[in-house]
Amino acid sequence: MKGVGPQRGDLLKKELGIFNFNDLLHHFPYRHIDKSRILKINELNTANEYVQVQGNLIFYEVLGEKTSKRLVAYLKDETGTLELIWFKGISWVQKILNNSERYTVFGKLGFFMGQAQIVHPEIELKTEASESKNLLEPVYSTTEKLRARGVGARQIGKLVQSLIALLKKNDIPENIPENILRDGKLISRFDAYLNIHFPKTIQEYDHALRRLKFEELFITQLRLALLRSERHRFSKGFIFKKVGEMFNTFYKNHLPFELTGAQKRVLKEIRTDTATGHQMNRLLQGDVGSGKTIVALLTMLLAIDNGFQCCLMAPTEILSQQHFTSITKLLKDINIGVHLLTGSTKVAQRKHILKSLMEGSSSILIGTHALVEEVVQFQKLGLAIVDEQHRFGVAQRARLWKKAILPPHILVMTATPIPRTLAMTAYGDLDYSIMDELPPGRQPITTVHRYDNTRTRVMDFIKTEIGTGRQVYIIFPLIEESAKLDYENLVQGYENVKAFFPEPKYWISMVHGRQTAGVKEANMQRFVKGDTQIMVSTTVVEVGVDVPNASVMIIESAEKFGLSQLHQLRGRVGRGAEKSFCILMTSVKIGNDARERIKIMTSTSNGFEIAEKDLELRGPGEIEGTKQSGALNLRLADLVKDKLMLEAAKNFAGDIIVTDPELQSAENLSLKQYLLSLQGKTPWSKIS
Ligand code: ADP
Ligand code: MG
Repeated sequence: MKGVGPQRGDLLKKELGIFNFNDLLHHFPYRHIDKSRILKINELNTANEYVQVQGNLIFYEVLGEKTSKRLVAYLKDETGTLELIWFKGISWVQKILNNSERYTVFGKLGFFMGQAQIVHPEIELKTEASESKNLLEPVYSTTEKLRARGVGARQIGKLVQSLIALLKKNDIPENIPENILRDGKLISRFDAYLNIHFPKTIQEYDHALRRLKFEELFITQLRLALLRSERHRFSKGFIFKKVGEMFNTFYKNHLPFELTGAQKRVLKEIRTDTATGHQMNRLLQGDVGSGKTIVALLTMLLAIDNGFQCCLMAPTEILSQQHFTSITKLLKDINIGVHLLTGSTKVAQRKHILKSLMEGSSSILIGTHALVEEVVQFQKLGLAIVDEQHRFGVAQRARLWKKAILPPHILVMTATPIPRTLAMTAYGDLDYSIMDELPPGRQPITTVHRYDNTRTRVMDFIKTEIGTGRQVYIIFPLIEESAKLDYENLVQGYENVKAFFPEPKYWISMVHGRQTAGVKEANMQRFVKGDTQIMVSTTVVEVGVDVPNASVMIIESAEKFGLSQLHQLRGRVGRGAEKSFCILMTSVKIGNDARERIKIMTSTSNGFEIAEKDLELRGPGEIEGTKQSGALNLRLADLVKDKLMLEAAKNFAGDIIVTDPELQSAENLSLKQYLLSLQGKTPWSKIS
């Protein structure tokens, strides 16, 4: 492009990732400045950010020495005087300034000791030509380095302008089918690119933005739907033909409670998936305590009835142990081989387990990531369930696939609720179930906020609870497990707790990241068994641990925790029959964001509601489990603000996939061509 030599080109690549015309076209302005208004100088106030003023230059002077050297000019209209200041390019500006000429100036308004001023304004002689300019001027992001080399926001604007002058309609072909354009009242793609940069009116800009946001969401949703559709149609998976004896016997005679509606629904979905002959790849999201374990067990029984083996992976030893204990208990009257395999399984036992897996006498293998090791081989693995998904890497899961002739059905369970919009974008290629219903009869957890200066009363409350036989968690933040200060806080906290609760009347477990796995495990077990009444810990207890007798959760420095973490921690109590409490301790002075989080926590215990708020407060990039998701590379659309548009885009995409899954019809041709042009990013290999 004219105006971009090798040096500038290099800088644009390095600084802004602009390699070609397409990148430049997609370097959207982050705002437009409205230059249609000219303000009087006495109207200027701190509420104005960018202002445009007209007046006569009455006088200018160079002040200061060296670094404080500056050019100050005074512009006067009939209402007052404005100071214009330059620190750079002084000699050049001096040349263009003429006393008593009339100028239009534009820039970011500031005040110094009450005097209105603009530093480095744009300045123009008030001539006829300057009247007819674009009144909405785009503002582009740039960097210090680029600015220093003369590529500021305006220069980028000029580059974009010359690019757009080069473009013809065919260069930006339409990619959304016509009926959708019509139904969605969307402007054409070409016009949208034009007007997102250089709109004539705010309305034009809004239409352009709306169209491009929709395109972004629609194309993302379509690609995810294609991936899913491809898996549904072309993947090969084991068929679980029947609901057999194991399942039925257990369901009729050993199920300790009536399933919730949500549990039944999810089971039905799984049953349907596994009967199709294609591989199931389902994500099950259920709030803490919604009863995912029993769903996992029933799914495993279904697999076993059809002659397959299963495995259930959990992120920690303690969780694996708990799953093993509860599952063997539930299956005690049914003859099924269940084994536990973790890093601490003894050699002899491990040998025995590996052998029974190969022989097929072990039907359910429960364990940590030890399960994915190569030595673990099954006779006929048909189903793999992964609990608390976000702690398992993609690579680890992939290793599971290699353990059978066909990839086993996969059920991933997570108790970290993520908002629907986010799930649609991050996990849109998976099948997706939600359990948003808690088993009946749960006592709601009472959550309160207490300041540090009432700690004594909180401790007295704990004492009463322990007196009635309950157990208590006290959680300290350890943001960086290695951070010395946090660690000292924890130890100090432990000493304080100990002062209130002296041995031998009370016993305390302490667990933190600096302990060896063995020590951690032992301390945790003492609490699980009820040998200790208090667990002082960092967030290592966050996920999954089940101690029904624990009824109080104290979270120290609660202001330092994120919402989802607070929710997970709170989920550790309220698991038994007793009334449970969560007490959020903070110092008296906390920031607004923290106060908002605490307010949300004390007002709802619905994980999905909390997740929605979390998304609003933090934005999608920060939400756990979605960080690596490429599906979230949205430039314009916002999952919070554009929720409705996302729903619409998903529906349009869904309709297309249902009626024309290979995009063969004439009306979808341009769409198909567009997807094909996104090289390597769309799963067309098998389709086309
Ligand atoms: P999570 O979804 O957090 O893994 P669990 O599977 O650990 O939840 O279940 C939490 C508790 O709820 C367990 O004690 C379990 O026995 C109980 N539970 C699960 N489903 C039901 C149900 N339908 N009715 C009553 N209790 C249930
Ligand atoms: Mg669980």
